[in-house]
Amino acid sequence: MSNVQVAVVTGSNKGIGLAIVRALCKQFPGDVYLTSRDPGRGQAAVAQLQQEGLRPLFHQLDIDDLQSIRALRDFLKGKYGGINVLVNNAGIAFKVHDTTPFAVQAEVTLKTNFFGTKNVCTELLPLIKPYGRVVNVSSMVSSSALRGCSQELQQKFRSDSITEDELVQLMNKFVEDTKKSVHEKEGWPNTAYGVSKIGVTVLSRIQARLLNEQRKGDHILLNACCPGWVRTDMAGPKATKSPDEGAETPVYLALLPSSADAPHGQFVSEKTVKPW
Ligand code: NAP
Repeated sequence: MSNVQVAVVTGSNKGIGLAIVRALCKQFPGDVYLTSRDPGRGQAAVAQLQQEGLRPLFHQLDIDDLQSIRALRDFLKGKYGGINVLVNNAGIAFKVHDTTPFAVQAEVTLKTNFFGTKNVCTELLPLIKPYGRVVNVSSMVSSSALRGCSQELQQKFRSDSITEDELVQLMNKFVEDTKKSVHEKEGWPNTAYGVSKIGVTVLSRIQARLLNEQRKGDHILLNACCPGWVRTDMAGPKATKSPDEGAETPVYLALLPSSADAPHGQFVSEKTVKPW
């Protein structure tokens, strides 16, 4: 088994994920895995970084596919005995003018952004080594969507005792409420992406709390973050940041020094902890 440190970035064949891999290849003292659900797109991205003189490694990962997640888990466990850095970056968003029925958008968006990310965490968090760093890429939209929730939902999402099961139930309820066209009456904001990212931010707060309870001595730091508004296929050409600029906050959190004991369990934007 290798003693080499290892970092893994989900959804990193393009956009912010690719920029995170680029920065980690330059700054992280170990192997860096670019992952992609499509091996062709992944290998093309690896070749692009090789042209820049960088040496990322590749592994397939579709966060919607439990078998794919478990294959990566077994590979990392066998080769490295664990993981030092995990960046959950993969995500999707329907375009504003997309005419797909809202209930379908809700189901599809939550499937990847919340449930896919949660499944990656369930399988890979037990492999995180002492002093490991976990970064869940959420969005400022999670904060605005939270403010658009009913007082009752806001209270639940801000609770310091909400469990992962309760969060899963709420995310499922959102999808079911959209199918019955009662989501607004039930206190939800009219944004599937926003609710999916509420899920990612709250999941991060829960996971950080569990790490405090179960692995206190391991000095693992886990945070959610917003990369900013970034020119990618998701956000379009009018966004203000380049992908490399968008990678800065996730990479800052991924490389927090071993002497750091904070931030942990926070929502971070522009390298600054934001209130939730
Ligand atoms: P992007 O250019 O569309 O890239 C998204 C990446 O996620 C792609 O590599 C995509 O792979 C991958 N992906 C999607 N579904 C996947 C799945 N099931 N399994 C594995 N990979 C999957 O978007 P981006 O702007 O870089 O976004 C990256 C993250 O930042 C997302 O979580 C997004 O919500 C968040 N974010 C972005 C902005 C922004 O302004 N851009 C702002 C706030 C937050 P394919 O190429 O195969 O589709």
